[in-house]
Amino acid sequence: MSFEDSGSFDRMWADLADVGRDPAGGGYRRFAWTRTDALLREWFHAEAQKRDLEVVPDRAGNLWAWTADPDVHGPGLVVGSHLDSVPDGGAFDGPLGIVSAFAALDVLDRSALSRPVGIACFADEEGARFGVACAGSRLLTGVLDPDRARSLTDDDGTTMAEALNAAGLDATALGRDDETLRRVDTFLELHVEQGRALVDDGSAVGVASSIWPHGRWRLDLRGRADHAGTTRLADRDDPMLALAAAIQQARSAAGRHGALATVGKVRVRPNGVNAIPSEVTAWLDARGSLEEGVRAVVADVGQAAGATPVEESWTPSTVFDPVLRDRLAALLAAPVLPTGAGHDAGILAAAGIPSAMLFVRNPTGVSHSPAEHAEPSDCLAGVSALARAIEALA
Ligand SMILES: [Zn+2]
Repeated sequence: MSFEDSGSFDRMWADLADVGRDPAGGGYRRFAWTRTDALLREWFHAEAQKRDLEVVPDRAGNLWAWTADPDVHGPGLVVGSHLDSVPDGGAFDGPLGIVSAFAALDVLDRSALSRPVGIACFADEEGARFGVACAGSRLLTGVLDPDRARSLTDDDGTTMAEALNAAGLDATALGRDDETLRRVDTFLELHVEQGRALVDDGSAVGVASSIWPHGRWRLDLRGRADHAGTTRLADRDDPMLALAAAIQQARSAAGRHGALATVGKVRVRPNGVNAIPSEVTAWLDARGSLEEGVRAVVADVGQAAGATPVEESWTPSTVFDPVLRDRLAALLAAPVLPTGAGHDAGILAAAGIPSAMLFVRNPTGVSHSPAEHAEPSDCLAGVSALARAIEALA
C-alpha cells in the first residue's frame, strides 16, 4: 500500500501549526492541562468525530478513539502518541504520531479490520509542567502513585490535582485503570527519530528495539544569601559553586561511564545579579545503555555537589516485544534501532502490553527544539508504514 493522498495529513498538520507556538519563534509550549492543551484535545475529539470514532477518556485523562467498542468486540490494536511538548519544543515530537495515526486510518479499508483499532492521545508525556515524564501512561498503568501525582506542583505552585480539576477532570479518580488496559491488546507508537541513526542508514522509517534506562534527579543545594559586593570570599557559602561542580561532573562522569547526563533546568533563589544565592535547585537527567553506568553517574554528581540526588523518576531498560519488533521490521524492510528517549510505548511495554515503535527520519537528529524536523515525503512514508502495520496487526 502506498500513501499518495497527502491531503488529510497536510490539513491536520496545518490545523495544529499555530496551536501553542511562541509568536517570537521559540517553538511550542504545549503544557499539560493548560488552555493550549485543551485546544489540542478539542482538535483530537474533532478529528475522531469526523471518522466516526468514539472517544473514551480514561481515569488519567488519556484519550482513546476507537473504531469499534473493544468491550464488545474484544481488545484492539492501539496506535497514537501525545500532543504536549517540552518548553520551546518542535512540531513533530508527539503530534507526528497522532496525525499519522488518523491519516493511516484514512487510507485503510476499515471494513477489512478484524478487530477494533484505537488512536490514543496520552496526557502529559513530556512532564514539562509537573516534572514527571509520561505522567498519563504511568498513572494508567499504576507506576505513578496517584497521591504523589496529585501533589506535584508546577513552577507557579499549582498542584496537578488543581490543574486537572480546572481542566474539568476528576483528580480523585487518578489511579491504575484496569478497565482501559484490558481494551489494549497491542500498542504501536510512531514517533520522529530523536537522533541520526536513520540518516546514517539511509532509511525513512525504522523500528525500535529498546529504550535505555533513564531517570531524573533533583539536587537541593543550600548556602547563605549575602551581598555580592560586601561579603569577603572567605566568608561566603555560595551554592552556585556546588552547582558548577555538579555540572562539570555530569559531563565527565557520563564520559567515564558510557552514559549521557544533562543539567537542563536550574532554579536559583533569590536569583539576583548582586546577591549570593541562598539556594540552588538543579535537575539532572541521566541515561545510558546500562543501569550501572547511569547509577554511577548520579552517584558521582551527588558527590561532586555535596548533596544526595533525590530521584524524581526512574525507568528501567525497556525491551520492546521481540516478536512484534521482528514482524514489523520484516514487513516494512526497516532497520531496528535503540533509543535513549522515554516514550509512552515504553511504559505500556513495561506494564506487559506487547508494544512497538516506528521512528521517522529526522535529518538533523535535533529534537526537543524548534529545529526538530522530518521531510514531508518521510512523514508520508511513516503514514504508509503505519497503515501497513495496522493492516497486518488488526
Ligand atoms: Zn514524544
